[in-house]
Amino acid sequence: MSGAGRMALGDKHDRESVVPALKARGYEVQEFGQALLTDEVRARLRTRTSLIRWLPDHAVMVPASDARLGLIDSKTCTRQNNGTTNHALEFRSILGAQVTRVPTWYVCSDLRVISSSYLFTALRFVEQLIQQAWPCCDSCMTIFRTGSNELQIADDLPEHCPDHMERKRFGIARGSGTPFVRFPKTWCQDMNSVFPALPAPVR
Ligand SMILES: [Zn+2]
Repeated sequence: MSGAGRMALGDKHDRESVVPALKARGYEVQEFGQALLTDEVRARLRTRTSLIRWLPDHAVMVPASDARLGLIDSKTCTRQNNGTTNHALEFRSILGAQVTRVPTWYVCSDLRVISSSYLFTALRFVEQLIQQAWPCCDSCMTIFRTGSNELQIADDLPEHCPDHMERKRFGIARGSGTPFVRFPKTWCQDMNSVFPALPAPVR
């Protein structure tokens, strides 16, 4: 599988490690995003560039607390990504998370975490970090960096990256070709620093 597919497509078995890890730390986790849509709506969304397709797949909450809400997109990064030092993520996944205006984290099956807002800011504005990233092509990266906001970027990005489709044609790449970026795994934080274990409820 190509780099783009590794983090994006995931593997059910690997992804399933994320939710139990959050629950074990005392958080409540519920389904969100595509899982809540009917098959017919999902099928029809596939024909459009809607960012609803890219919504994070779980909601995370502190039980019996105030109204705080976070979103989680669980990703695979233990098996297929073994030996690589980068994560790959579609630009539209970051945009979809950002437009929710709810704090969103990507959680890998290695239980390391990075927020969508960190990626959105780092990949657009922080030259030192941009130089560590490796996009599908310079054109998609320029659209991501220079667009005025998330919706503008989503409109301007191609459905499929032309460079990546060309690489596919020559058999040197696979995956859907949805514009993507790779970034170093070292950007992620340990789960415990973002989701510390909650105190047990008083009985
Ligand atoms: Zn591209």
